[in-house]
Amino acid sequence: MTHSSLGITLLGSTGSIGCSTLDVLARHPERFHVVALTGFSQLDVLFGQCCRFKPLFAVVGGAASAQILRARVLDAGLATEVLHGEAALEMVASLPETHAVMAAIVGAAGLRPAMAAARAGKRVMLANKESLVVAGALFMQAVRESGAALLPVDSEHNAIFQSLPAGFDGDMAAAGVEKLVLTASGGPFRQMAAADLAHVTPAQACAHPNWSMGRKISVDSATLMNKGLELIEAHWLFNMPAADIEVVVHPQSVIHSMVRYRDGSVIAQLGAPDMRTPIAYALSWPERINAGVERLDFLKLGALTFEAPCLARFPCLGLAYQALASGGDATCVLNAANEVAVAAFLAGKLSFNGIAHEVEAALAALDLSASTSIDGLMARDAETRRFVEARMRL
Ligand code: NDP
Ligand code: MG
Repeated sequence: MTHSSLGITLLGSTGSIGCSTLDVLARHPERFHVVALTGFSQLDVLFGQCCRFKPLFAVVGGAASAQILRARVLDAGLATEVLHGEAALEMVASLPETHAVMAAIVGAAGLRPAMAAARAGKRVMLANKESLVVAGALFMQAVRESGAALLPVDSEHNAIFQSLPAGFDGDMAAAGVEKLVLTASGGPFRQMAAADLAHVTPAQACAHPNWSMGRKISVDSATLMNKGLELIEAHWLFNMPAADIEVVVHPQSVIHSMVRYRDGSVIAQLGAPDMRTPIAYALSWPERINAGVERLDFLKLGALTFEAPCLARFPCLGLAYQALASGGDATCVLNAANEVAVAAFLAGKLSFNGIAHEVEAALAALDLSASTSIDGLMARDAETRRFVEARMRL
């Protein structure tokens, strides 16, 4: 089959998902071309990517960074236009030259540009799970109204997407689906005693046993907040109530998630723990392309094991269930409090167990009534950040 080349905008190209996406794109130069790349602080990485992929646009965080990158790009004889700031991110997410947008900025900062891609009716490849945690209802509404194609990149949700019937139209009951099963690695502290968790360091938290990821999601994975965010993400993506989404710890990270059907069948997607598989599927769906991923060797794997998550040692997962049940802006508050607390933990200013305490305090203290706009949600996000920052200064 021949293909015309598809234009890709990569939001967060300098991050872990961004670099893995470029690795997949580079394997298929006839199939994809890069329209825009965005980073925030890593100018050297972004400059290198501009030299290699020659985008029309490159976006950075601030005006000073843009000036530095612009000079280097000119010097290298590239035609790339360098911009900065939020409006530029939204602009490159909705360019007519762009067919598909990889949403791989970390945190709530990724929401507005991902929304812009959704509103513009693009193929939205969603790694930025925080978009759905903060604004699930509005995001899904934008996707429906514009006719955008929303393809989950998060490995669990990509696995569920792959395990649903072809042509699935969003009606779980009609498809015979009973439950979704999210698998969790359990993170680096799965077997650690509660008393020892108080003393773990950022370096230990970021040393994930199976996956290589950015620092924020690595900490989320260690607290199990990542699974909590994924529960909320699955709820919105697949229109499933929390009661029908199970979480099971599977330390080998080979089964990426599963779908239980009414006849007793369970369909799972398996693979090496390498994000290039779900990224490639999101890029090429409904076809499949080579992603450079190592093949599974079942004889080497030997056994796949399963256990229940420990909510007593990892209360963040329970807080996410609680926030989803509360509705309104609770999941927006959960996410913002978690972002501030994780940044404080990474900066050595908060203990590991302090992350859950801050999230719990924010959920207990703040107004959780539902905002009806992205502006309203971002105001709630800002209010939550101020609340947690003020508590941590005490
Ligand atoms: P990284 O921290 O590695 O990368 C984040 C990217 O976002 C970088 O390009 C960074 O730029 C950019 N960025 C950071 N802050 C801002 C901001 N305020 N405005 C604009 N851009 C910003 O994260 P990951 O790649 O690990 O994760 C990205 C998203 O994908 C997250 O939502 C995560 O939950 C999700 N995800 C990641 C997985 C993984 O395996 N890594 C798996 C599943 C989901 P710079 O570095 O130049 O400062
Ligand atoms: Mg995941």
